[in-house]
Amino acid sequence: MCDVVIIGGGLSGLAAAHELERLNITYTLIEVKARLGGSIISRRQNGFVLDGGACVFPAGNWSFLDDLGLREAKFTFQDGRLAAFQDGTQSLVDALARPLRGEILLRMAVSSLGVDGAFFGVCLENGLLLNTRALIVAVPARYAEHMFRALQPEVSLRLLDYDYDTITRVSLGCRREQIGAPGRRLWDMGLPFYYEIEHSCRAPAGCVLVHAGVRFALPQTTPQAVIAALQTQLDWPDNPLVSWVTYWPEADPLPPHTPGFRDRMAALRRLLPERVALVGSDYDGLGLNERVAAGRSAARQIAAGLAAR
Ligand SMILES: Cc1cc2nc3c(=O)[nH]c(=O)nc-3n(C[C@H](O)[C@H](O)[C@H](O)COP(=O)(O)OP(=O)(O)OC[C@H]3O[C@@H](n4cnc5c(N)ncnc54)[C@H](O)[C@@H]3O)c2cc1C
Repeated sequence: MCDVVIIGGGLSGLAAAHELERLNITYTLIEVKARLGGSIISRRQNGFVLDGGACVFPAGNWSFLDDLGLREAKFTFQDGRLAAFQDGTQSLVDALARPLRGEILLRMAVSSLGVDGAFFGVCLENGLLLNTRALIVAVPARYAEHMFRALQPEVSLRLLDYDYDTITRVSLGCRREQIGAPGRRLWDMGLPFYYEIEHSCRAPAGCVLVHAGVRFALPQTTPQAVIAALQTQLDWPDNPLVSWVTYWPEADPLPPHTPGFRDRMAALRRLLPERVALVGSDYDGLGLNERVAAGRSAARQIAAGLAAR
């Protein structure tokens, strides 16, 4: 039996695992998908480095990147106000995952949690049951809600009906002369963000990489339909060098924008059993630096709980 089971292999879960590794505490990390990273995914294509999820963050003090050997991994653009990773945001996931020596179970979904005396039971959809002394739940609210039903129904109740805005993320790479300035007000068109990146690490010489978020209603949401709509609305070329469309039904959690959210989350955390932490972008901030800080802090809190027993 390991000391801690971490559920969810996104940035929060990985940061927690990374910290437990540093503290010499044994853990098993369980991730339902075949890969780690959650809402972070990057790919290389035709000389471009594309991000299908998180791509850009405010430049500033990101000192935690130094500890991960990523001091030189980012670059800034838009007059130094924004930053991105030279090799895609996946670099952050890889740097956190690389030193992990604990057990990592991929393609395994946790369905429910229980408690038996001093131990927690983690029940997987494939019927496997793991026992552990502590838990770090690092999954979005709608999955956590199911997991907590038996362990702490009041937590489950408070996570019910958690709402999100969906977003379609489009990456498009083309030659600079193929694309003009967007010209129209992007927000009014249903594009909550639009970044052009020409840095040599992300696009070949003379080319531009566009990352855009799309929220306008479409008759169809196939990748081809999304690209076709942008070709019409933004005069995008019909022969780009690369394009990639990803759809995220749970991109932006809405409750954090409502009054009293922080207090409600603090109250919810007080309901968690001892040696159980709940961490993730649905509960404590979307920014990549916030995710790493929150994952690490959850690991330290659990380590302190284990040491106290
Ligand atoms: C489309 C998109 C764009 C974004 N862009 C930016 C950006 O530009 N800049 C920025 O700073 N932030 C951005 N963010 C936010 C940032 O990506 C997130 O805050 C962060 O990656 C969330 O990490 P997480 O670990 O909390 O959650 P997630 O990444 O959601 O990870 C949760 C993990 O839990 C797994 N899981 C779920 N259910 C189970 C189960 N039953 N059993 C086992 N595993 C399970 C999931 O598969 C997933 O891997 C963006 C987010 C999205 C979705």
